[in-house]
Amino acid sequence: MRLILFGAPGVGKGTQARRITQKAGIPQISTGDILRNQIRSGSELGQKLKSYTDQGNLVPDGLILDIIRLRLAQPDCEGGFILDGFPRTVAQAEALEVLLVELKAQLDHVFELKVSDDAIVRRLSSRRVCRSCGEVYNSLLEEIPEECRHCGGGPIAQRPDDQEETIRHRLEVFNQQTAPLLEFYDDRGLLRSLDGDRSVDEVHEELMSLLV
Ligand code: AMP
Repeated sequence: MRLILFGAPGVGKGTQARRITQKAGIPQISTGDILRNQIRSGSELGQKLKSYTDQGNLVPDGLILDIIRLRLAQPDCEGGFILDGFPRTVAQAEALEVLLVELKAQLDHVFELKVSDDAIVRRLSSRRVCRSCGEVYNSLLEEIPEECRHCGGGPIAQRPDDQEETIRHRLEVFNQQTAPLLEFYDDRGLLRSLDGDRSVDEVHEELMSLLV
């Protein structure tokens, strides 16, 4: 099973991808997580990537495509994968098509999660993330712990790009550069749109019912 979870930042792609991974046993491939790991490593490349991600701008397609090419060639992707945060431009989607032909693989579904901009700003500005393992918490839903419940580490802090002004910029970037992909995948008969403004469990159940 090869899926894309599509939608603006903060619609719940990562949360839903982690849930599907646990049930279906296929890896979640989050380009945002891969970039944050590279940034955390303190490498020279990481410094360069940080200048894009902190401002809420997209990292150039060439860099992202190098990352995806390497990741999809890993053995754990042979039985399928969930793409979360990729593709984000038409050029990335076209390159993915070429890559899938090379891998003799096909996409099964593209699920769009839809949430209003105001709800996204509320969700993201109250999101906190474990700096050690990436576990996500949200003060709208729970009390933020001192130590990460997943890895026991921390600190648990706000992502630099989850400041309100940067969130609004990321939404603009989404509307300009990423939203055109809806038509791209609709034309290929792969797109299904779901209401993401529901509980995590409700969205998860609908997604699982569509995964055939
Ligand atoms: P995310 O965690 O998916 O919200 O991604 C965080 C940031 O990483 C984005 O705002 C971009 O700066 C960068 N990023 C993640 N995925 C991509 C991608 N497919 N193309 C370009 N930039 C990306």
